[in-house]
Amino acid sequence: NPELIVTHANPAVSRLLGFPGAELPDEAQDPASAANESQDENESNRSLSVLLQLKSGKDLLDDFKKAIRQQKTVNRSFQNEDRILFFQVAPLLDEDQKVIGAVALLRDVTAAEKLEQTRRDYIANVSHELRTPLTALRGLIEPLADGLVTEETDRLRYYSIIQNETLRLSRLIDDMLELSRLQAGKISLKRSQFNIWEILREVEAKYQAIAEEKGLTFALPPYRADTPLVYSNPDRIEQVLVILLDNAMKYTDAGGIIEIQLGSESDKLILAVKDTGKGISADDQQHVFERFYKADRSRGRSGTGLGLSIAKEMLNILGERIWVRSYLGHGSTFYFSISKLQSSRMAPNTQEQGGQGPRNAVD
Ligand code: ADP
Repeated sequence: NPELIVTHANPAVSRLLGFPGAELPDEAQDPASAANESQDENESNRSLSVLLQLKSGKDLLDDFKKAIRQQKTVNRSFQNEDRILFFQVAPLLDEDQKVIGAVALLRDVTAAEKLEQTRRDYIANVSHELRTPLTALRGLIEPLADGLVTEETDRLRYYSIIQNETLRLSRLIDDMLELSRLQAGKISLKRSQFNIWEILREVEAKYQAIAEEKGLTFALPPYRADTPLVYSNPDRIEQVLVILLDNAMKYTDAGGIIEIQLGSESDKLILAVKDTGKGISADDQQHVFERFYKADRSRGRSGTGLGLSIAKEMLNILGERIWVRSYLGHGSTFYFSISKLQSSRMAPNTQEQGGQGPRNAVD
């Protein structure tokens, strides 16, 4: 009312404001309180004091004042504990257009705000990732174009860096497109039965040479003929393995060891990529599967921060899990599951263990 006494409020308000013990009067639910004027006033004063206890209490009261005195609708967003609340106060007029108070609407906009924040972060990340190689390219092309690089060997070195930066840009854009297609559910991951050893042999052929070049030891588990067949998408499983091996090689210095291990857990095979590299801190481990996350920005020049998020998204669609164990300075092991053939065959249409059934799987 014009004296800035809160005369009506519903229980949702006190829930939103986080004062469960201080339920505001709810006229609709308790008509007796409206009839009893002194109780009503007590309750109303209490609700006002509840409002004023908030960090933003004074601002909210000012908004009420403004709405009543200037006959204006006032909006404000504010944070209360971990919620973001939208507060709108509008003047309340009687038939003669006289102000008889104001009415406020309180809305929990936490989810919408978080989404908006994610979108802003995403754009900031993409812009940063694109700007960095572009700045490098400009810095290299300008002296070349101005004829300042006279030595042929220097020129060749510049060209090589330019080539690498453009490759990195293409990789980044490919990764971003891949991730957005995966997240939009536009990629259907066809599953079939296969022998995991076919994939292991392929990556062995490819990575043995790379490991040697980098002075790393690369080892596969000893072959076992009784390894169960698996039921998944072989190309995508290989892609995940490639992402993990690329990382293992990237974050392990010469002299280190990179191993693939094979385990079993009820109806899943567990593949592990283990390295003796720089490791990931406990804090960073919680974030490495997020888009654009790089634990060590200074070393992350060649990476996009998207590899692990792509791996996770693909495995998620296939109904599988990925996780990491690591100690800073002592190496990392990335694990992921693959469904064994038998369980998939017995129940081809049921969700697999872990609860994340294959969303887009086409058998
Ligand atoms: P990037 O392209 O930067 O490698 P990823 O999504 O593949 O992106 O990895 C995210 C971050 O996780 C990396 O920047 C790195 O800091 C960390 N990381 C991933 N794999 C390893 C590993 N085997 N050893 C140490 N750090 C790793």
